Amino acid sequence: MASQPTIVWLRDDLRLADNPALQAAIETGAPLVVVYVLDEESDGIRPLGGATRWWLHHSLAALGAEIARVGGELVLRSGPAGVVIPALVDEVDAGAVHWNRRYGAARQLDADLKSSLRARGIDVHSHQGNLLSEPWTVTTGEGNPYRVFTPFWKACLDRGEPREPLAEPTALDGLRGVPSETLDSWRLLPVAPDWSGGIAERWTPGERSARGALEEFATGALAQYDRRDEPALDPTSHLSPHLRFGEISPFQVWHRIRGALGAPAARNADKFLRQLVWREFNWNILFHWPDLAETNFRPEFDAFPWRTPAPGELEAWQEGRTGIPLVDAGMRELWATGYMHNRVRLVAGSFLVKNLLLDWRLGERWFWDTLVDADEANNPGNWQWVAGSGADAAPYFRVFNPALQQSRFDPEGAYVSRWVPDDELRSAPIVDLAETRAAALAAYDELKRRN
Ligand code: FAD
Repeated sequence: MASQPTIVWLRDDLRLADNPALQAAIETGAPLVVVYVLDEESDGIRPLGGATRWWLHHSLAALGAEIARVGGELVLRSGPAGVVIPALVDEVDAGAVHWNRRYGAARQLDADLKSSLRARGIDVHSHQGNLLSEPWTVTTGEGNPYRVFTPFWKACLDRGEPREPLAEPTALDGLRGVPSETLDSWRLLPVAPDWSGGIAERWTPGERSARGALEEFATGALAQYDRRDEPALDPTSHLSPHLRFGEISPFQVWHRIRGALGAPAARNADKFLRQLVWREFNWNILFHWPDLAETNFRPEFDAFPWRTPAPGELEAWQEGRTGIPLVDAGMRELWATGYMHNRVRLVAGSFLVKNLLLDWRLGERWFWDTLVDADEANNPGNWQWVAGSGADAAPYFRVFNPALQQSRFDPEGAYVSRWVPDDELRSAPIVDLAETRAAALAAYDELKRRN
């Protein structure tokens, strides 16, 4: 049995159950130091937006309570992880460090840290906890990454069922007295103004809440998931922020949904799991193209003639004042709750990049700041999908007509009127949809001619 302490470094895996790094560390039999590092400066780390900072605060508070309940302490440290983790190793004289892998640009930091700690004789282990398949293992016959979703999804299915989730530890031997910073000192919550009221009303961060949401969905709305495009009904899982912070793992989600009872739920299970695998797909893309939030996946889009926003134009979109009811409803839902229904995200995104002809990166950054589920892979991946510049993206010439989308998916206007007061529904649109659609298609034709 090891006597030197073992460090578990948690990142976007803020849970006890199905946490392979935590489980492996417990199995060493050594006293544990469970640490979270607020790193806002290292290369490869994208600083969090406002809504995810709010979520992180509450998620860490919940995690700290859960860890205390089973006998440990959550240690909070801030600074560049490449400095903080080795310093903690020295401070507690740790013999081993465990973490679950991450797959964005920060993995270089992890690789460097692993080799420098190993060179000092520390036992370092990384584990698979956040994706169902490691990105380097799902490849085409030629060994290349998939760029198209459907063959990727089939390849995932061909691999067979993902492993079963690991049980939640009931006790752990936490090393006592390791100094910790306080959560409040990190100032993750908004003050002056505190805009988080609507977010707090809608969401409860933390592992327990995540498991509750999964259970509620599996026994409830899953049966109606085939109507998931209807924003007023909104029969989706709302697991995205929980998955974003790893309060629940995709393995837990996969198996619970596979086990759902009743014919309608079972019929919808595949539809839902396919969406869950879109998350895997985007992370695969990010793994191979780490610059996804800044660079067009399809380089021919580098020459696209995006407009410079007219004064107030971007703000009108951000604040839900475009005069296009479905777009405005979505943007107001986002601002009020940190979330927007997927179909409405598509329509609001399409309006920005096609009707306003503004660069998708402007929209991506706004979503990054305001979504509670803002995710390093899913956000740029979906924005590039909407813009036509991404992997397996919607063709640019397919321009959503928001009025038609509303008549198909919100025919009674129930969703729109939830977010936009009746008198504002009569505001004139800031642009003419038909004219701007024609301009977008002309710009695209020009791009094709030049390439
Ligand atoms: P459900 O339908 O219940 O799906 C379950 C899970 O599958 C989701 O929680 C999510 O992890 C995954 N998933 C579902 N749809 C997608 C998708 N299209 N792409 C990738 N994963 C998916 N999702 C994020 O998690 N973070 C983002 O930052 C994000 N930004 C987006 C930006 C735009 C412009 C668009 C069009 C979509 C974006 N999405 C993003 C995808 C999608 O809108 C959300 O994942 C979904 O609405 C979350 O709600 P849910 O958990 O109820 O989804």
